[in-house]
Parts: sequence; structure tokens; C-alpha cells
Amino acid sequence: MSRSVLVTGGNRGIGLAIARAFAESGEKVAVTYRSGEPPQELTDLGCLAVRCDITDPEQVEQAYKEIEEKHGPVEVLVANAGVTKDQLLLRMSEEDFTSVVDTNLTGTFRVVKRASRGMLRARKGRVVLISSVVGLMGSAGQANYAASKAGLVGFARSLARELGSRNITINVVAPGFVDTDMTRALGEERRAEIAGQIPLARYAEPAEIAASVRFLASDDAAYITGAVIPVDGGLGMGH
Ligand code: NDP
Repeated sequence: MSRSVLVTGGNRGIGLAIARAFAESGEKVAVTYRSGEPPQELTDLGCLAVRCDITDPEQVEQAYKEIEEKHGPVEVLVANAGVTKDQLLLRMSEEDFTSVVDTNLTGTFRVVKRASRGMLRARKGRVVLISSVVGLMGSAGQANYAASKAGLVGFARSLARELGSRNITINVVAPGFVDTDMTRALGEERRAEIAGQIPLARYAEPAEIAASVRFLASDDAAYITGAVIPVDGGLGMGH
């Protein structure tokens, strides 16, 4: 298939692995990046890299215009961009809370809303949101992040009901701990402690998250919508 695919935050980590997986399947992939220069690998893969901070509605609009011009309307959207700003509740500032929600939840709302226009017109579309096991289990010191990631579930399930009759599916992937910059920031001791709680006793590789995302965008997943797929080595079982 050669669909127009957009991955937000596709310049590194899980987003880059998702972009790679779709590009290797022959799709037309666009990624957004917020800062720095996109890696050479994206060019080598033939991906279009567009600068866009998803907290800015104008940048989101501009990015979509550029992508639509070059690849046509987005048919598969993967809302992956996200941030953490960990802090215990009493030390968590208003800004720590609202900025994480603005990126992870409201930013996702912005990109999904914009993509839905073309999908409604085409009467088809696939949307995958990257949440987290933490949104379902909770995590001390991550109330802002967990709230934003749990919010994605209600958002997706509402849209599954709203958009399903137009042949648009929207699903959530909830990764556990994945080996990326985000978790490398935790430090060796904390990383080892977390690995000890994971039934599969290791962190995920970004490609293992990408495989589930690609499945949800494939024909084989045509009848799956409103689902939350855990890809967490068993960490969140029962949630
Ligand atoms: P990284 O920190 O490695 O990458 C985050 C990506 O999001 C970067 O591309 C970053 O851009 C982008 N981004 C952040 N803020 C914005 C913004 N305001 N506008 C546009 N892009 C933005 O994270 P991961 O790859 O680890 O995580 C990807 C997603 O997976 C996130 O949503 C995360 O919450 C989720 N996740 C990660 C887990 C993990 O263990 N790593 C576990 C569960 C979920 P830039 O390079 O410019 O900063």
C-alpha cells in the first residue's frame, strides 16, 4: 500500500521506529519534528520531515498544508509526540501540569481533528494514539503525564463512536517501558528496578511498538476500533 501516513514526533525514539516501519512497507511517510535537524535516516527512507510544535495550532495547520501538497490528505495518523515533566504532586507547578497535558492530550486533539477532515471526506482513515501503561496503572511522580495518557483513552473511544460509521478506526497503543531517550533519562538504578517488575524482564525495543501500530493501520485490523492494545511485556496485566 502507498498511503499518506503522518507520524508526529518521528525524528527519534518510538516515532522514528514507526516511521521506519511504514516507510519499509512502501507507504508515503511524513513525520513532524519539533527541534534540531531531522536525522539523515529519514531522508534515506524517503520520508518527508516537517517542523511542527503540536502545542501551536498554526504550526499544525502549516504542517498539514505541506503534507497534503506533497503526499495528499493524511490517511493514517499516528499521534506519537509526547513529553514528561515528572514531579511529586506538592512540587508540581501549574505549568508542569498544563504543559504536559497541552502536548500529550490537547496536542493530540489538534492533530487528530485536522486529520479527520480529510478522512471524513474520503470516508476512510486510521488513527493510532500512543498512550502509556502509566495512564492505566498510575505512577508516583507522573500525575500530569498519567492524566494526559489516560485522557487519550476517553478521547479515542469517543471518536471511535463518532467516526466509526465513516470507516475511520481509532485505537490506542499503550507501551510499557521502551528503550528511548525518555527512559534513558531515568538513570541505571531506576531502570533496573523497573525491569525487575516487568514479567518479560526487559525494556521494549521501539520496533516492537511500531509493529503493533502498523498492524492497527493494516487491513487485518479493519474491525478493531476503540481498543487499547498493551505492548508492555506484561507490566500492566489486568488493566
Ligand atoms: P522521546 O522523548 O524519545 O521523543 C519524543 C518525541 O516527541 C520527539 O520527537 C519530540 O520532538 C516530540 N515532541 C515532544 N513535544 C513535542 C511538541 N510539543 N510538538 C511536537 N513534537 C513534540 O520519546 P519516546 O520515543 O520514548 O516516546 C514517544 C511516545 O511514546 C510519547 O508519547 C511517550 O509518552 C510514549 N511512551 C513512551 C514510553 C517509553 O518508555 N519510552 C512508554 C510509553 C509511552 P523533539 O525531538 O523536538 O523533542
